[in-house]
Amino acid sequence: MARLDGKVAVITGGASGIGEGTLRLFAEEGARVVIADIQDERGQQLAEELGPSTTYLHTDVSQEEQVQGAVRLAVDKWGRLDCMFNNAGFGGVSGPIELTDMAAYDTTMAVLLRGVFLGIKHAAGVMKEQRGGSIVSTASIAGMQAGFGPHAYSAAKAAVIHLTRSVSVELGEFNVRANAVCPGVIGTNIFTTPFGFTGAAADAAVRKVSDAFADWPPMKRSGMPRDIAEAVAWLASDASAYVTGQHFAIDGGLTAGRDITEMRDRIGRAYGIDFSQMPPPGQQ
Ligand code: NAD
Repeated sequence: MARLDGKVAVITGGASGIGEGTLRLFAEEGARVVIADIQDERGQQLAEELGPSTTYLHTDVSQEEQVQGAVRLAVDKWGRLDCMFNNAGFGGVSGPIELTDMAAYDTTMAVLLRGVFLGIKHAAGVMKEQRGGSIVSTASIAGMQAGFGPHAYSAAKAAVIHLTRSVSVELGEFNVRANAVCPGVIGTNIFTTPFGFTGAAADAAVRKVSDAFADWPPMKRSGMPRDIAEAVAWLASDASAYVTGQHFAIDGGLTAGRDITEMRDRIGRAYGIDFSQMPPPGQQ
C-alpha cells in the first residue's frame, strides 16, 4: 500500500517548484490532488500528464472565494480533504525598508500570509467536521533567521510559523494537525521568475542558482523540490499522526550553525597563526 493511498489533497502553488515536486510525489503515493495555482497552462498540462487522480483549478490564494473553491472542489469531487498544502508563494517586495512601496508590501502579504491563513481557514472547517486532516504550510528558513529573504517575505514566513502553532492548539482535539516546512535554498523558479526567464532559459537559470548556493549549507548542495516533498508527504501521512504545531527546517544544515573553522581562522588572524596547518580543534 502506498503512503497516501485514499487521501485527498489541495496543493497551492502546485504548478511549479516545491508544489510541483510535492504533487508528483503525492500522485506516486496514491493521493488525489487539486492543483491550485495561477499558472493555468502549466497546471492543466500537469493534470493531463498525471491523469484523473489530479485536477487543476485556477486559484489565486489571496482571494478568499478562490481558496474556498479549491477546497470545495476536492470535497465535491473526492468526498473529503485530508491534506491542505499551503505552499504558493513568491519573493515579494524587496529593498531597503525606507523605500518599501506599500502597495507591493500589501500584495506580498496577501499571497504569503493571507493566502496561508485562508487555506488553513477553509481546510479547518472541512477537517474539523470529518475529525481528521493534516495542514502543511510552506514557511522558510527566512522566517527563522534574518538574512535569508527580504523583510516582508521574512516577516510573513515568521508569521506562518506562528500561525501554524496557534491553530494547531485549536485543531488538536479534532485530530487535525498543522505543521510548517521551512525550506533552505531549493532550486526552483522562485529565483528565475523575477528576472523574466521562461522555458529552457529558466531551467538553465535554476541550475546556475543551485550551483551558486551549493557550498553554502554543510551538506554542500542546494536542495531539490523532492527534498521538501518527502517531508510534506510524511506530514500528510499517518506516519506523523502525533506531530502538530511544529516547523521543520529542511535546509541541508544551513541554519544549524556556523562552521567552527571560521572561528579558528579569526583567532588565527588575530594572533598571526596559520591554524589551517594544525590538527582541527580538539584533536591536538
Ligand atoms: P516557484 O516559483 O517554483 O513556485 C511557486 C508557485 O506559486 C508558482 O507555481 C506560482 O504560480 C504560484 N503562485 C504564486 N503566487 C500565487 C498566487 N497568488 N496564488 C496561487 N499560486 C501562486 O517557487 P517555489 O520555490 O516552489 O516556492 C514555493 C514555496 O516555497 C513558496 O511559498 C516559497 O516562499 C517557499 N520557499 C522557497 C524556497 C526556495 O529556495 N525555493 C525557500 C524557502 C521557501
